[in-house]
Amino acid sequence: MSTSSAQRLARRVPMSAVSAVASLRNALEQLLSVGEHQVAGFSASATAPAINWVFLGPPGVGKGTYASRVAKTFGVPHIATGDLIRAEIGAGSEMGAQMKRIVASGKLLPDVLVQQVLTQRLDSGRRAGERGFILDGYPRTRAQAEQLLRSTDVGLVLNMGLREEVLVEKCMGRRLCRHCGKNYNIANIHLPASPDGRPEIVMPPLSPPPECAPHLAVREDDREEVIRHRLEVYKAEASPVEEFFRREGLLVDFEITAGIPETLPRLMPLLQSYVGRRADTRPAAGAGN
Ligand SMILES: [Zn+2]
Repeated sequence: MSTSSAQRLARRVPMSAVSAVASLRNALEQLLSVGEHQVAGFSASATAPAINWVFLGPPGVGKGTYASRVAKTFGVPHIATGDLIRAEIGAGSEMGAQMKRIVASGKLLPDVLVQQVLTQRLDSGRRAGERGFILDGYPRTRAQAEQLLRSTDVGLVLNMGLREEVLVEKCMGRRLCRHCGKNYNIANIHLPASPDGRPEIVMPPLSPPPECAPHLAVREDDREEVIRHRLEVYKAEASPVEEFFRREGLLVDFEITAGIPETLPRLMPLLQSYVGRRADTRPAAGAGN
């Protein structure tokens, strides 16, 4: 069974049945594979280097897009906790119903629930022979970050950054086609290098084709004051998480200065050098602290 059909199934059946299916699949794969043969496109090898990476970055940096492109290139799933939560709610499980009530009341989901839904996903991935993951949107708190490192061998935390004025301009340039649902960006960014040494930034617009042009809309939450508030919230939330991973020797800052086509060729070799790097082989962090 493919992962996607398993995921479709997961939306319809209770979790106990899902884990039963997962363990059945696991048993079948063990029967079908001898040694390190590939099973249904997954590398079943226990010795393939692990890719357990976390992507951090402010709203508007393009984190989701980069995470999904990198995941595809390295053959690991792109796991966004927001998607997991929506799927769990959609599946109508007991946990999903509980999450739905909390979200509907406007409260934040407690760490323990988010951790539970993520652990469930990582465990079923391990059983299915996935060699790792790109985590997007998690951890959001220091407690979540500590918990993640206790349960998982994270090899890299990529901290994507982009100058704030560019983030704001980019978010304000977002346009959604009401007709076909595609996203565009009309911001045409060219910022000279700053006196404090930050590099020049060139980001051409992602212009809509003529058939979408008459249907473009701005999302309600892409107004400047909303964007600036979102960035402030992110900074306050993210800095303890960044600080924690930095002290653990896992954080790698990556400054974005161009569009996706120019940035990926710079990002991929950097990531390649982290393939298989594990927590137990990384340099001792926080020496002297
Ligand atoms: Zn369109």
